[in-house]
Amino acid sequence: MDEEAAPKRGKNGPKFHCLPHSTQGSARMGTRKKVHTFVRVKPTDDFAHEMIKYGDDNKSIDIHLKKDTRRGVVNNQQTDWSFKLDGVLHNASQDLVYETVAKDVVAQALDGYNGTIMCYGQTGAGKTYTMTGTTENYKHRGILPRALQQVFRMIEERPTHAITVRVSYLEIYNESLFDLLSTLPYVGPSVTPMTIVENPQGVFIKGLSVHLTSQEEDAFSLLFEGETNRIIASHTMNKNSSRSHCIFTIYVEAHSRTLSDEKYITSKINLVDLAGSERLGKSGAIIALGDQKREHIPFRQCKLTHALKDSLGGNCNMVLLTNIYGEAAQLEETLSSLRFASRMKLVTTEPAINEKYDAERMVKNLEKELALLKQELAIHDSLANRTLVNYDPMDEIQIAEINSQVRRYLEGTLDEIDIINLRQIQEVFNQFRVVLSQQEQEVESALRRKYTLIDKNDFAAISAVQKAGLVDVDGHLVGEPDGQGFGLGVTPFSAKPGKKSKSKKTFKEQLSSSARKEGASSPVSGKELDVSTSKTQLTPSSKEGDVKDMTIRERETSSLEPLPSDSPKEELRPPRPSTPPPKPVAFEDFKNERGSEINRIFKENKSILNERRKRASETTQRINAIKREMDVTKEALNFQKSLREKQGEYENKGLMIIDEEEFLLILKLKDLKKQYRTEYQDLRDLRAEIQYCQHLVDQCRHRLLTEFDIWYNESFFIPEDLQVALKPGGSIRPGMVPVSRIMSLGEDAQDKFSQLQQVVLPEGPDSVAFYNAKVKTEQKHNYLKTMMGLHQAHRK
Ligand code: ADP
Ligand code: MG
Repeated sequence: MDEEAAPKRGKNGPKFHCLPHSTQGSARMGTRKKVHTFVRVKPTDDFAHEMIKYGDDNKSIDIHLKKDTRRGVVNNQQTDWSFKLDGVLHNASQDLVYETVAKDVVAQALDGYNGTIMCYGQTGAGKTYTMTGTTENYKHRGILPRALQQVFRMIEERPTHAITVRVSYLEIYNESLFDLLSTLPYVGPSVTPMTIVENPQGVFIKGLSVHLTSQEEDAFSLLFEGETNRIIASHTMNKNSSRSHCIFTIYVEAHSRTLSDEKYITSKINLVDLAGSERLGKSGAIIALGDQKREHIPFRQCKLTHALKDSLGGNCNMVLLTNIYGEAAQLEETLSSLRFASRMKLVTTEPAINEKYDAERMVKNLEKELALLKQELAIHDSLANRTLVNYDPMDEIQIAEINSQVRRYLEGTLDEIDIINLRQIQEVFNQFRVVLSQQEQEVESALRRKYTLIDKNDFAAISAVQKAGLVDVDGHLVGEPDGQGFGLGVTPFSAKPGKKSKSKKTFKEQLSSSARKEGASSPVSGKELDVSTSKTQLTPSSKEGDVKDMTIRERETSSLEPLPSDSPKEELRPPRPSTPPPKPVAFEDFKNERGSEINRIFKENKSILNERRKRASETTQRINAIKREMDVTKEALNFQKSLREKQGEYENKGLMIIDEEEFLLILKLKDLKKQYRTEYQDLRDLRAEIQYCQHLVDQCRHRLLTEFDIWYNESFFIPEDLQVALKPGGSIRPGMVPVSRIMSLGEDAQDKFSQLQQVVLPEGPDSVAFYNAKVKTEQKHNYLKTMMGLHQAHRK
């Protein structure tokens, strides 16, 4: 049975709502806040009107399940549920979804509140569409690019603060962590597996690259890089994308430009595209969070909750968006997703600003304060007619003088010690301590001169002494608790490898070795441990580490499940020709065959981009025309004004009287300004759109050419026996093609291909350089992997 959503009992029975409303609106520090939950229904022509109904306020969703007659129970089987949420998004545009779900969370991040937005739901229900959006159309971009845009717009509006933005992109697949931005040239492949580290500042992933971005465009590039890697990884590593969690994090740090302000704020926005809920199952990781009765949440049990530990519940704004299908066939899974959503509503968070102190600014301000106070003291002294008092720290001579005063005081030759200032009083007490411990030592050494000291616990020594008749049977001797440095007659104990001294040594060894260990694991403690610093890799790189890491990765990936079986197209592929076709010809084939889908998207994006460019240029022309007209109107107006001034002005009860001509000109100018503003706004939006579309086009082109490369090599160069190994389940996985084969293209063919690229790519030579660089990097990458693979095979 279902405990989360109580049933409606019959038509007139009490209608049970899972929860009262959550507190909407802005949260101040210390206010508890519910997790905001929304449901987005994937558009369908086949919506189950009979089974799914929304409340009038669009904040509840009722599910009616037809009785399962096959079970033959007459029966207490539950058929109706009602879920109360913060909003149901039906047929909602990406724009509306962003406004409803993400806008406030992002806005508050700039005030120092952490925020987490998660998409949850069955595979195919629209999580990735909601988070990332499609690559076809700017309008359909998702929460990720929009959040970046909002952050940068808000920064523009806040000139009083210096705000930095960093991003990272993490994928969690089969409990392994992958850096989706590790392909960037300045990061390089990770040397050691990433680990999740907790420190007082929060949780961070050691080894995950975090990238400083100073403008919208850089941030988009990072996003696209990550998306490309996500797609490539799912191809080359046989990843089933429905099983992976992806966390895109935006880190914000805002310092006031007023230097006396020591406080600064930091925050992160986590945008999480969860694995398909059917994979998470009932025992799903984050479900523990939704369990109100649970005191302890086992965050560390899975990588996802561990990585998000400081961003789930706790002190952050949290939004859960549940993606569901609206179709009858999916109702079971839909119901289970809604149950999860209503459980998550029980989680409360306490959003609080992440305020930190800038140590450097603090020291500077304290120094200023100190100088001021010293001046103040000097004034007081002179007003009190005191001779110059020194408030600086004491030097050795002054301390020696106090030491002698204290000794004389103890001996009784000095009656009192004059009080001068606080520092001096402290030093007097300090010297009391010094003298006291000196006296203790003197007493002890006086005793030593008279008696033999033996460690009370050293039974061997005692019995030896007893035998020698040096002590009585009760062991009445003067013990020395720490048994250090003494000799006994002819047998010096220090020469024996005594138990005590041995353990002491071990302890010391432990100390030094643990210090060494600490040094090794965190070579850059403090600053670098902070997520907010722009770091790349934390661990030092070593050749050995490199190899080990590769081996681990190799093993991990080879244990993954194989790709779904080859498409029929490939199996029908005609026998291989003895000489490979020239690349330009092959490229045409490729575009009609395996590459047709990417090619279609590429062309589509290209045409959208061109259309936007055309619109932008038209708008620019219009703006220029308006500007010219404004100038003309202004001139006419100035002329009218000067005319009026020359003719002498009329005034009526303090109001200027102007003639109709001037009045009309003023109206016209006002109208033109308005037009100008609107057009300018349009242009700005268009430019953002163009920027984004440009990325889409680049990404598609890159994929098209990369996949062509793979296809070409697979089809014409890789020998049949290797093909077998390359097949799913074979010993070599795609991406491990021996590079000698790939590289054996004749120079001419390479040249022709380069030429072809320049013809095929309307973007011209600029993008070719970019693309070539990428292909080379990939080839290098493949080569390394291949060598590793061969090396391993050889050892076996
Ligand atoms: P998930 O990530 O949950 O597995 P996707 O986001 O990949 O699902 O969605 C599956 C397909 O449905 C994609 O092709 C996506 O473009 C489409 N889709 C999902 N939600 C919507 C929506 N609200 N409007 C239009 N298409 C959608
Ligand atoms: Mg997805």
